[in-house]
Amino acid sequence: MSQNGRRQLLLKDIEKRGLDTLLVTHLPNVRYLTGFTGTAGVLVFSGGRSIFITDGRYKSQAQEQVKGARVLISKGPALEAAAQQIVRLQAGNVGIEAEHMQVWLRSRLRKMLPAKVKLKETTGLVESIRTIKDSEEVSSIRRAVQLGVDLFEVALKAIRPGVRETEVAAELEYEARKRGAQKMSFETIVASGPRSALPHGVASDARIPSRGFVVLDYGVILGGYCSDMTRTVHVGRPSAEARRMYEAVLDSQLAGIRAVQPGATAGDVDYACRSVLRNTKIGDVGLDRFFIHSTGHGVGLEIHEGPRLARDQKEILRPGMVITIEPGVYVEKAGGVRIEDMVAVTDDGCDVLTSLSKELIIL
Ligand code: ZN
Ligand code: ZN
Repeated sequence: MSQNGRRQLLLKDIEKRGLDTLLVTHLPNVRYLTGFTGTAGVLVFSGGRSIFITDGRYKSQAQEQVKGARVLISKGPALEAAAQQIVRLQAGNVGIEAEHMQVWLRSRLRKMLPAKVKLKETTGLVESIRTIKDSEEVSSIRRAVQLGVDLFEVALKAIRPGVRETEVAAELEYEARKRGAQKMSFETIVASGPRSALPHGVASDARIPSRGFVVLDYGVILGGYCSDMTRTVHVGRPSAEARRMYEAVLDSQLAGIRAVQPGATAGDVDYACRSVLRNTKIGDVGLDRFFIHSTGHGVGLEIHEGPRLARDQKEILRPGMVITIEPGVYVEKAGGVRIEDMVAVTDDGCDVLTSLSKELIIL
């Protein structure tokens, strides 16, 4: 879908909600609709009369990148210029992106507009269009995922007993940049030994113990698109219980992938992952008790996008969605395991983008 196609869809959506204009302030949304990759700019979206506003620092970049909107370079605050354009367009019902506009900015905007202009809170308008990736976006995501996969061996080489988690993250991130990543798509997680039981254990100064799991969860941004993957390795010989835990998470993750198909709900995939864990027990407790987060999320221009794969989520999976499948089990003190791939929903199932073995690696 071209940017023009995206804008047509958005126009229909805002009209359905009785809006004539949408003030797009969330930068990934601005980028998605206009192609602008800078870090300051707002879009007064009004179909064919749309205006993109930025400041002098981005003049040439905006002129080069922005498609489908008039470019206006403001001298003062962009919001003030946006308010003037809203008045000039004689807009009546203006949507704002409620999840992204700070309260004080909303108040300022209100004061700059005549009373007859109504500000309406909207959520997820551009985001819901963004959940379906076109083939060009899927290709960009594929490249980001592949870079992540290629970097895994760098991380593996760095993992040794006694090495700090931050050193592992440093090696990985340095190499990511050397290979062209714009940045990491989120703070790299290296969680070793007992810390592997923390689902969000960002690399700390803890040293990797001589025996235990190491959870590695990281991603890169390449060409504007994010990747996200997790592998869990074991340092030293794993106990029988550790092996069982790993196998259960792997089976759960594979069940999740099998459940991904157009027409299934996000909740169905979550259910598939949880069911496998429920049937594996430590004592008489099903491992699902230790799966304390959701199964996955969409990935694209941002690391966390729609759809959300969690319990009872009704959202229907559709071809073009790119999502993660990342069940995990976290047992306090003992350790944790998570395995995460990115998959693209296709016409008849899904395509696993993260092409990397999931057999337990013992270092
Ligand atoms: Zn992740
Ligand atoms: Zn993730």
